[in-house]
Amino acid sequence: MTLQSFGVIGLAVMGENIALNVERNGFPIAVYNRSRDKTDKFMAERAPGRNVKAAFTLEEFVAALERPRKILVMVQAGKPVDAVISQLRPLLDEGDIIIDGGNSWFEDTERRTKELEPAGFRFIGMGVSGGEEGALNGPSLMPGGTESSYEYLSPIFNKIAAQVDDGPCVTYCGPGGAGHYVKMVHNGIEYGDMQLIAEAYDLLKNAGGLDHNQLHEVFTEWNTTDELNSFLIEITSKIFPYIDPDTNLPLVDLIVDAAGQKGTGRWTVQTAMDLGVAVPTMIAAVNARIMSSFKKERVEASKILTGPSGKYEGDTKAFINMVRDALYCSKICSYAQGMALLATASKAYNFNLNLGELARIWKGGCIIRAGFLNKIKNAFNVSPAPANLLLAPEFRQTILDRQTAWREVLVTSAKLGIPVPAFSASLDYFDSYRRDRLPQNLTQAQRDYFGAHTYERLDKPGAFHTEWTPISEASVQTSTPRELQASEPTTPTK
Ligand code: NAP
Repeated sequence: MTLQSFGVIGLAVMGENIALNVERNGFPIAVYNRSRDKTDKFMAERAPGRNVKAAFTLEEFVAALERPRKILVMVQAGKPVDAVISQLRPLLDEGDIIIDGGNSWFEDTERRTKELEPAGFRFIGMGVSGGEEGALNGPSLMPGGTESSYEYLSPIFNKIAAQVDDGPCVTYCGPGGAGHYVKMVHNGIEYGDMQLIAEAYDLLKNAGGLDHNQLHEVFTEWNTTDELNSFLIEITSKIFPYIDPDTNLPLVDLIVDAAGQKGTGRWTVQTAMDLGVAVPTMIAAVNARIMSSFKKERVEASKILTGPSGKYEGDTKAFINMVRDALYCSKICSYAQGMALLATASKAYNFNLNLGELARIWKGGCIIRAGFLNKIKNAFNVSPAPANLLLAPEFRQTILDRQTAWREVLVTSAKLGIPVPAFSASLDYFDSYRRDRLPQNLTQAQRDYFGAHTYERLDKPGAFHTEWTPISEASVQTSTPRELQASEPTTPTK
């Protein structure tokens, strides 16, 4: 029997499309899905004329594959991945490779690696981005795991990934859960991008007074620019003119303004907090989705809580350009945060990530694909790499050139009562990062006041504690700073 080169488990939207992509690129495939109906449908509708072997048991599936077996598990993240692995394990041979292509939590990937690799199996945790279209025609692939295992897969992945001017959109990200970590941050950045675009839309529509045709024109034009050309701007431009056949109204206006989330944006924020990395734009994006979900409560509140409203009173064309500049500056800040998070995670988890290369593999195939990722790639492909994207000469200059417009947009939003949490969080990130003195000297004083947490001083080294108020009524009302002795413990009260 001729054996197949590659196996796919899970024939939902991602699995079936990636399976067809692998086959189209010259690798005969075997497929399996827990429920037989999906396999039957796939074989009847999409597999005819292709080199596909359907399996209806895992035993059949494993027997159909050449060794070392290369098996892509494309099932729901979480327990289903563990369930599939535990069913597969007894059927596999040493050296066989399991690839988890779902949106798995990176710590689960680390755990699975530790369970599988000492037992002689190979395990790759791989982020896949691009949705169903990308999976079929060329996704961005973010594999992580043992590098020697990846070598078996790179000939296949190099072919099925999206192709851009500087190569396929796939790279070995790093050990253990590195690939899934990178994919998670990619999704966090995607949340930020989508929220920033939503805010630009809100401003153009409600402050600028643009109708759906004008919005279509503006986003179409933005998509031709060097800075904003991207998949998300492109699809946004195509959403506005779509007319609902039932009502003859723009469909976007009929869609309930309550956004869902599956968790990768929230995970990005959680891990950033764990690592002590500021990601205010992503936090704003997650919060915005949460706020949007209180639709009923907001409708009630809108009847009671009044505030300013109205339109921008200046030149509309100038306003559109200001919003474009604000969007681009905010986007730079959002990517600066994502890249800073990856840099910190790389050190914390020994991922050894190559930030320039990650920007490169996001240039095609994935949801955040954008022309400006080439600039990010170039910004990090210098030695030494900048500590923050904002310090890279090109981005620094862009923000210097456009910050007046950015600030003006925020002033306008505040005056008109239009919430722009991600624009605002981005500007705050920029202003905080560029300030050599922030007000946290006062925070430190407060912490020392109520909890004896100590503080450092600008004028001399050491840790200091002050008795800010007299302990008894009789004490003198002055504080006397004193340097703590190295051996002297402080006991925070709260
Ligand atoms: P999905 O809806 O996340 O999962 C459905 C698939 O999982 C079905 O094949 C289902 O089999 C299988 N499954 C669920 N529980 C199982 C279990 N206990 N044992 C075996 N199989 C089980 O599918 P998807 O949207 O194609 O996504 C697959 C993975 O890719 C997910 O991790 C997802 O987060 C990630 N991803 C999705 C997208 C996207 O645009 N959809 C993009 C990137 C990444 P049955 O048919 O038997 O129920």
